[in-house]
Amino acid sequence: MATCFSDIPDSRQQGKCIYSQHDVLMSAFACMFFQDPSLLHFQTRLEQKHQRNNLRNIFKVDNIGSNNQLRDVLDKIPSEALSPIFKDFHEKLRRHKHLEDYAILPNVLMCTIDGTQYHSSTSVHCDGCVTKEHQLSELTYSHGVLQGAIMHPDKKQVIPVMPEVIRNKDGTKKQDCELDASKRFIANLRAAHPRQKFLLCGDGLMSNRPMIEATCAGDMHYLFVAKPGNHKYLVEWLSAYDVLPTTEFTDIKGNSHIYSWKNDVPLNGNEKPIMVNWFQYQFKNSSGKITKTHSWVTDIEMNKTNVIAMTKAGRCRWKIENECFNTLKNQGYHLEHNYGHGDKNLSYNMYILTLLAFYFHQIFELTDGVYQACRLSFGSKAHLWENFRASIRMIIVEDWAQLMD
Ligand SMILES: [Zn+2]
Repeated sequence: MATCFSDIPDSRQQGKCIYSQHDVLMSAFACMFFQDPSLLHFQTRLEQKHQRNNLRNIFKVDNIGSNNQLRDVLDKIPSEALSPIFKDFHEKLRRHKHLEDYAILPNVLMCTIDGTQYHSSTSVHCDGCVTKEHQLSELTYSHGVLQGAIMHPDKKQVIPVMPEVIRNKDGTKKQDCELDASKRFIANLRAAHPRQKFLLCGDGLMSNRPMIEATCAGDMHYLFVAKPGNHKYLVEWLSAYDVLPTTEFTDIKGNSHIYSWKNDVPLNGNEKPIMVNWFQYQFKNSSGKITKTHSWVTDIEMNKTNVIAMTKAGRCRWKIENECFNTLKNQGYHLEHNYGHGDKNLSYNMYILTLLAFYFHQIFELTDGVYQACRLSFGSKAHLWENFRASIRMIIVEDWAQLMD
């Protein structure tokens, strides 16, 4: 991490800077890493008393600034400068073969994308805020991103990629803003990983021509939810067949799992329709009642061999909400916590640093035997981190490895 932050160009006049950009980024990252807004305060106290502190030992921070100094510097760092870090860690995971288990199809990684809002206020705002006018001319200021994460149905950890800001242009509908963000997201993901094959997975708002064309333009496969209500023409087309290719099995509880598919069907009734491969999963309980139906469209040719795996892939989309967004918002990462909002980039930079801390925790869970052992001995993740936080307030460790020891 230290080298990543040092690589970011510093546009400030060096003679006037007391705190290096590296120290500032690393201090903010450390707060997110330990999920502790008072980290700087306690480490400053350790430094005053013992002339040593854990921010220096664990994160290589030379000078600890105040919260205000940290905010001022962070506000001016362009957010895109943090993007290469996601790529570097992805490459490290790939080189050490940790991504092989994530292949959803041979050599294909599934990247699920979804929009999320991480700031909303009627008073706190900055240059980067999206504004929305309500009745009585009241304004709401918000920040939203399109977030992507690599995931697999059998893997608990999700691997985030660099998000894309959802911007609003005057007179543009919300859906078009998300589409524009998706296009930039796809182009950036492709540029970051030119040789990697991706399957882009998204919700029902994405199963339309512009989004499918954008995905194909980025040389990626797609797997998008296709709700029958949004695709009446497709549903009618399918109903013209007496039978669709189907495979089915009954589990030990007597429930049936029914998979159907049809390749090369028109997504809509346009003159030049976009042709897609459709598939569906139905759950029939032991009394013969269908209680769940999910359907998708994809460019992957569907058959009896891949329909179950593709269904599992499509159904694990919830992980981006549960494992990623909910963890960031609820499990102590203080994503919307009052670190301040800034005038330019602070809010988004804080989101990215929080995401990077989450990324680190995912990497530990996935690759680090000592961390896994710590986690096991403390039972819950929350309990483990409570102990880490308490320890570094009182004792000075040589490095992260010693803290885990
Ligand atoms: Zn803002």
